[in-house]
Amino acid sequence: MKKHFPAILLLTLIVFSCGRKPADQKLVQFKGVAFGTYYSVSYYEGEAVDYQESIDSLFSVFNQSLSYYNPASLISQINRGEADQPDDFFRPVFIRAWEISAESGGAFDATVSPLVNAWGFGFKNKEEVTPALIDSLLEFVGFEKVYLADDRIVKLDDRVQFDFNAIAKGYAADVAGAFLESKGIEVYLVEIGGDLLARGVKPDGSHWRIGLELPAETMDSPQEWNYMVEIRDNGVATSGNYRRYFEENGQRYSHTIDPQTGYPVKHNLLSVSVFAPDAMSADAYATAFMVMGLDKALAFVEAREELDAYFISSNEEGEFTSLASSGLSLKSKSN
Ligand code: AMP
Ligand code: MG
Repeated sequence: MKKHFPAILLLTLIVFSCGRKPADQKLVQFKGVAFGTYYSVSYYEGEAVDYQESIDSLFSVFNQSLSYYNPASLISQINRGEADQPDDFFRPVFIRAWEISAESGGAFDATVSPLVNAWGFGFKNKEEVTPALIDSLLEFVGFEKVYLADDRIVKLDDRVQFDFNAIAKGYAADVAGAFLESKGIEVYLVEIGGDLLARGVKPDGSHWRIGLELPAETMDSPQEWNYMVEIRDNGVATSGNYRRYFEENGQRYSHTIDPQTGYPVKHNLLSVSVFAPDAMSADAYATAFMVMGLDKALAFVEAREELDAYFISSNEEGEFTSLASSGLSLKSKSN
């Protein structure tokens, strides 16, 4: 029996590779507009079927549920207290937002909406922000003031409002990925405004790769991708942008709010890219890490095997520095 084993193994390998016909897979790529940004989709499919129309309709249904800017969306209705039943988009986002809020000690908190508006990052104009205003808004900020019971969103304070802007874009990439998988597609990359989900190995045996920027010396230096990272079944999301922030009295502010204080975060971490098993988690963790700051965020990532991150900070002299977590294998672009 023993001597037949290699033959059987070889046959199994041949059948396996014939069954998958990797060389027959054709690359399909398209770009579009969604969620106020650009998206792009790439995948390998035997017949090169183009699913752009389906993806566009999927994003439009998604928006009817989670668009913060559409007054008729489910999230807007829930925010106004006119609805309390989650749908199949709202429910998973609410549950993951709840989990990551708890895990991050409240650094990620999707009830920051009133603070986001007060600081002028939402749809309202920036108000005159006073400590008294922040205190009054903090009364109804906090994920501990909401829960899900019998498939209803319960608010312990009627004024609680949700802002899923820090998690929904990632989830949209996951939803598009799940749609492609339902069509039998196993190798794909869905990218929405820089956040993405990549799965599978390409027919030539290579992995999807993305570029990471080594911080430029000055704000105006041209953008360069200095590192390549292979993505193996990961979601990737970036929060912050070391080139974009606003400065007041010499202090840099990002668009991320610390839900504990009610103020925009003020530390030297300017941008973080997170690698997680799915894009929704990567998106939420990236926002959480901007609130935590470099030291806490790095410790958080190193304690979790499924997470990696690439940080860009500014030092005392105002120079940019970068740091990658230990699991991230960066290849310089020339390789
Ligand atoms: P992102 O680019 O994914 O970090 O999302 C930033 C957006 O998330 C902001 O424009 C706000 O709408 C919202 N946001 C700000 N601070 C927080 C926070 N601490 N937790 C959750 N969402 C936040
Ligand atoms: Mg985010």
